[in-house]
Amino acid sequence: MRKFAFYKWSLPNPFCLLIFAFCLLPFCLAAQTAPSRFHHLHLNATDPAAAVDFYTGKFDCEKATYEGRTAVWAQKSFLLFNKVAAAPPAEVISAIWHFGWGAENMKETYQKQLDMGTRFSTPITELFPNFFFAYVDGPDRAIIELNTAQHHHFGHLHLLSADAVSAGEWYVKHFGATWRGNRVPSRQPSFIRNFQTGPNASLMMDNVNIIIFPIEYARQAFPEWKDRTAFATPQGRVVDHVAFSVDNLAVSVEALRKEGVKILEKAAGRALIEGPDNIRIELVEGHARKE
Ligand SMILES: [Zn+2]
Repeated sequence: MRKFAFYKWSLPNPFCLLIFAFCLLPFCLAAQTAPSRFHHLHLNATDPAAAVDFYTGKFDCEKATYEGRTAVWAQKSFLLFNKVAAAPPAEVISAIWHFGWGAENMKETYQKQLDMGTRFSTPITELFPNFFFAYVDGPDRAIIELNTAQHHHFGHLHLLSADAVSAGEWYVKHFGATWRGNRVPSRQPSFIRNFQTGPNASLMMDNVNIIIFPIEYARQAFPEWKDRTAFATPQGRVVDHVAFSVDNLAVSVEALRKEGVKILEKAAGRALIEGPDNIRIELVEGHARKE
């Protein structure tokens, strides 16, 4: 009797197999869009050549070309620059707050930067014991953070969100980002020096840490949030958009469309989509490579 039951189980009903395959389909489609890689940050600059000199002269990155234009290559991804006639607005009202490089010895790095004439909008500050940060006043008022890290590479992108944990989940679901240190974030409010910094999210995409702070932080910290209720589009601002690379653009765009993601533009080899908090994300087919 026992043997018979085993035999029965070992021959699956074709109908069950079909249902099983159908149930797996969404996972297969999602897997095709993931994991993505960090491709570039796209900035608007009044003087792209000067901006490239600025970044390559001060941080660990190098001059490169991307599609025939001068760009910055930072370890595994690019900074790209659009030339604009007038200074792009730089108040922090879009979901993109700043980006930055690490520093093994912040005090030494800070002094070195001061010695070479780098201007800081926020001087070196000890946030926690032995963790320092400072904000460089970059080209076109871009905010570039230097902070204590175990490396001195292009290391993070700092975003803001009306719902940071859900935004983080969105990057996990659609692009295969992973929770940094495998820590699933808490939805409880948290504070650093009376500023609301949580709920927040910290993700890894490739070698870039994407940190998402709550909108409450922006309201407390930035005067530009007085009377503001929602995030502006980053389009035309100092950081115009971020870009991820995917293996197969057509497959990714179709999967994203089915998952309800708004596709803003689609062109040969690239697409533009809207992410949480009005952020603009470009998708590029093929991973970033130094040309
Ligand atoms: Zn771009």
